Amino acid sequence: MRLKDQERVKDFLNKLFSHGRIPNAILFYGPPGVGKTTGALEFSKGLLCTENTPWGCGVCPSCQHMEHITESILGGSWEEISLFEEINGRRVFLYLSGEHPDFIFVPPDGTSLKIDQVRAVKDFAYRKPALSKRKVILMDDAHTMTRESANALLKVLEEPPPDTHFILVSEGKEALLPTIISRTYQVEFSPLDRESFYELLGEESEDLYRASKGSLTVAKELREKSDLLRSLEEFLSGDPKKVYLLAQEMDKKDVEDKLLFLRLLEERIRETFLRKELDYDRFEMVVRRIEEVRTGLRRGVRFGLALYALYSLWR
Ligand SMILES: [Zn+2]
Repeated sequence: MRLKDQERVKDFLNKLFSHGRIPNAILFYGPPGVGKTTGALEFSKGLLCTENTPWGCGVCPSCQHMEHITESILGGSWEEISLFEEINGRRVFLYLSGEHPDFIFVPPDGTSLKIDQVRAVKDFAYRKPALSKRKVILMDDAHTMTRESANALLKVLEEPPPDTHFILVSEGKEALLPTIISRTYQVEFSPLDRESFYELLGEESEDLYRASKGSLTVAKELREKSDLLRSLEEFLSGDPKKVYLLAQEMDKKDVEDKLLFLRLLEERIRETFLRKELDYDRFEMVVRRIEEVRTGLRRGVRFGLALYALYSLWR
């Protein structure tokens, strides 16, 4: 079992397995990097297992195919399992599909799940299963669906073929159409606990755990930008001279880093407020000012100066 932690989710899915009545559309949602996609792949293996073993027997041909495609998907070797189609002279990416005839994995094409992909999903949904008793369509990052895609998907979710199961994986529910949500069985994933987080990250970093709120994806991004975390510590505790220099340095960063810095800063200030180390008026003022700096960034405001002003307000 690759899925770490998430005991509540596992218990719940075990119950679904034992009742044998698996909903045709399930939504896995929660923060990024906590095991939703991994969990969905493991769950799919069980749904497709020809020995009908929860989470898969691991030895039947179906499980072996699933094992293989799971490794390719999680390992990032997508090239050999990507399916494309010529549509109006364009080469369009549809989904990933390995040797298992009854399983497809549909990640966004670039930044969104596109209408051509949903059309291909529908074609797949109405085929008969070839190896297993069911078919599984795993749609990753479902929150990136365009409105057009969502509306097209809605039609098949309303009346899914009985042997077809959709698993939608999404970072939260906000970006999904309410009509999609209402047609799915919802399974919420939590932030990782410390132990699993450290194990998956490969290091025991309390700073990263806190800054990422238990999200492995966010933590890995942050680790690459560990200088930002260091700057944040300096900003929060340093003397004015240091902060002034730091602010000047931050001026040279790209917009993405500046925005990330603001987000981390805002989280830390919120924590300080929740610990009652900052009164509400000051908290509100700082948060409002952070928002102003954020908006100002788009208009080309001098970030270093804005940051220093923010520091003076906060100290
Ligand atoms: Zn099996």
